[in-house]
Amino acid sequence: MLLVNRTLFYGVSMTTPANTLSGTPVVPGVAAGPVLLVRGEVSPDAIARYGDGDFADPEAALAAYDEAVAAVADTFSTKAASAQGAAAEVLTASAGLARDKGLRSGVAKNLQAGQGPVTAVQGAVDQFVTIFTTMGGLMAERVTDLRDIERRVVAHLVGEPAPGVPTPTEPSILVAEDLAPSDTSGLDPELVTALVTERGGATSHTAIIARQLGIPCVVGAAGITALPAGTFVVVDGEAGTIEQGADPDEARARVEESRRVREELAHWSGPAATADGLPLKLLANVADGASAQSASTEPVQGVGLFRTELCFLDRKDEPSVEEQADIYAEVLAPYSDGRYVVVRTLDAGSDKPIAFATQAGEENPALGVRGLRLSFDNPGLMDRQLDGIAAAAERTGTETWVMAPMVATVAEAADFAGKVRARGLKAGVMVEIPSAALLAHRMLEVVDFLSIGTNDLTQYAMAADRMATDLAHLTDPWQPAVLQLIAITAHAGREAGKPVGVCGEAAADPLLATALIGMGISSLSMAARAVRPVGAQLGKVSLETCEAAAEAVLGAPDPMAARTAVRELLGH
Ligand code: PEP
Ligand code: MG
Repeated sequence: MLLVNRTLFYGVSMTTPANTLSGTPVVPGVAAGPVLLVRGEVSPDAIARYGDGDFADPEAALAAYDEAVAAVADTFSTKAASAQGAAAEVLTASAGLARDKGLRSGVAKNLQAGQGPVTAVQGAVDQFVTIFTTMGGLMAERVTDLRDIERRVVAHLVGEPAPGVPTPTEPSILVAEDLAPSDTSGLDPELVTALVTERGGATSHTAIIARQLGIPCVVGAAGITALPAGTFVVVDGEAGTIEQGADPDEARARVEESRRVREELAHWSGPAATADGLPLKLLANVADGASAQSASTEPVQGVGLFRTELCFLDRKDEPSVEEQADIYAEVLAPYSDGRYVVVRTLDAGSDKPIAFATQAGEENPALGVRGLRLSFDNPGLMDRQLDGIAAAAERTGTETWVMAPMVATVAEAADFAGKVRARGLKAGVMVEIPSAALLAHRMLEVVDFLSIGTNDLTQYAMAADRMATDLAHLTDPWQPAVLQLIAITAHAGREAGKPVGVCGEAAADPLLATALIGMGISSLSMAARAVRPVGAQLGKVSLETCEAAAEAVLGAPDPMAARTAVRELLGH
């Protein structure tokens, strides 16, 4: 509790030079180059020139629509062929959606009613958007794809280049309002050397893609899309700045230095410890057997978050206990060599709807029946999952910890812990709701460990939807209020002598990781890709510096000041 009221003024300058824009830094590194603007909308002039297209009859107009759709769908399919994993699936789905028969009948009807092709397409898509939005969940998320299809079909009809990412002819900084999966799949990190968006938060699609590509990224940079295409800028993905007018030689030197540092980080191979030898625990976040297998070859001591719900996003019916045990055993098996896995029970609902678990038609699903709350009315769902986890633990012999998401009260924690311990497993809960952080010391009386989910803790502490692309400045784990809640939880863990880890995106931020260790966080769990940069950064600092970083962030008035204070302490 000691840390809560402590304030410290670092005297850092909060003003940025007039020719510098700033946003939320999400992937560190420096890049320099001309701005490459993503074309968002089809030019209204081109649409006006095209008019109703001068077709002899509605059939001829429909034939033009069919040709445009075929071209758009082919583009998606070609991109899908050269993409991998989730990106390939999204693009194949977009190709299917473009060719949708229902959409075509809507367009045909509008053409028969005398509309021109552009108006007919826009009207039919509007209708679909309304239907998808009303259906909610995953369908509502397809609205972005529908609008993308609409823009592409209209562009083809009126003879404009397709909206989206123009092909760069030299290494460039990609700038956009926000980026859709179809924009970012297949980007070449040699030609697109950084991403900057006007909207979008730390967990947005843009940020995830930038991390995958290993290129610097700043999101929520107000005013960035007003920069003329071709403007030479220097992007600093650690400071969150975009500077214009920099000296090109100086910029080149900064980019080179940043590349050298990133290469050095990529070669870090553990074991994790501070510079003065305090051993640290770095863990991986995984989603299924394949990701667990590939993360097991990284320098990690285990899995700190297995998001079980991600195994069931496409399932209509609840899998049997045996089937669940098979799926979980695939994740546990690679860690039977003395490492451990923290399995999280289903976090269905809200942004992760699952057909067999999610409640339909909630007004406010993020505050509704999600995570642990699904078991209130359906305790069998939890019991069967715990049986599956226990069977997988026994089969693989892997040390297995189990935690529940979205725990609000000590009674919920105690009830859950009883069920987990009855199966011989270690029991914990996630700290994602501010009430759980404020009562961390009492939670620790009834559970074996806590794991802080900073993504949701930030969303609930700041009352800012983690998916809202225009609230990036609030959905930032560097916000002082979020850091205070983390500090309270870490402090409770130290007093109780029980582990308190962080498994949200905050753990993947090398700068923030130093402050988290300084607060007394006992493990950091992150996307496998983030482990080496975080481990390398922590290996360069002493525990004393980590503690100074913790003091600095807890005393800082806002996220930017907190970041600046830590960067100064670390000599960045
Ligand atoms: C979190 O909320 O920080 C977390 C790790 O859970 P998820 O991102 O899956 O909601
Ligand atoms: Mg969460």
